[in-house]
Amino acid sequence: MKKITIAIDGYSSTGKSTIAKRLAKALGYVYVDTGAMYRAVTLYAIENGFFGKENNDILGLIAALPNIHLKFKHNEKTGISDMYLNKVNVENQIRTMKVSRQVSKVAIIKEVRDELVQMQQNMGREKGMVMDGRDIGTIVFPNAEMKIFMTASPETRAQRRYKELLDKGEKVTYAEVLKNVEERDYIDSHREESPLKKADDAIVFDNSDMGLDEQFERLFNYAQRIITRK
Ligand code: C5P
Repeated sequence: MKKITIAIDGYSSTGKSTIAKRLAKALGYVYVDTGAMYRAVTLYAIENGFFGKENNDILGLIAALPNIHLKFKHNEKTGISDMYLNKVNVENQIRTMKVSRQVSKVAIIKEVRDELVQMQQNMGREKGMVMDGRDIGTIVFPNAEMKIFMTASPETRAQRRYKELLDKGEKVTYAEVLKNVEERDYIDSHREESPLKKADDAIVFDNSDMGLDEQFERLFNYAQRIITRK
């Protein structure tokens, strides 16, 4: 059967990765979470003193890029891929608020984007791939056969992310999570390099009032239609 590339872009915490993982599993495709790559570079930047509350040493981080090695490795227990930064599993660390607060500032750096986009394009050469992020349908795979632009109200998204963080034992307030979601949306959509925007040929998918099963069924059926189309 024909294999396609599925690009899922959209605002923060719209549930892109949850649905992308499910789609990839059902189709037997590879899933790539590009947000995890920007988050891992950000973790490196924080741990090495390039980014923090007071300083943003962009030039220092750019110079250190050759020392950052990223790899996805399949986790047998969870069935999904974990992010490794310089051979260390950082899957949990990259999801914390400490990283969320800085990541959009790191993601505006052209040199960081150029490197990560190149890696993503190499990973997707074979097709049979579901990739989620902010610029997949516009920059990484402009020829993807299926493009989705996910959206939901900021409050719905913040509520989901807040619950996720509480479940992981992180001490945060709903107000702080909402502020972070809104800030990241703003920076991601207004940056000069590959801003978050809907590709002309992407389908807008607002999942504010949709459960996971309904989202999955709609997108899976849509994918099947594209795959079987002549
Ligand atoms: O998807 P996630 O929320 O984990 O992404 C974290 C951040 O990484 C985004 O807010 C954005 O700043 C950046 N990002 C990006 N381009 C991508 C994926 C993520 O700029 N393709």
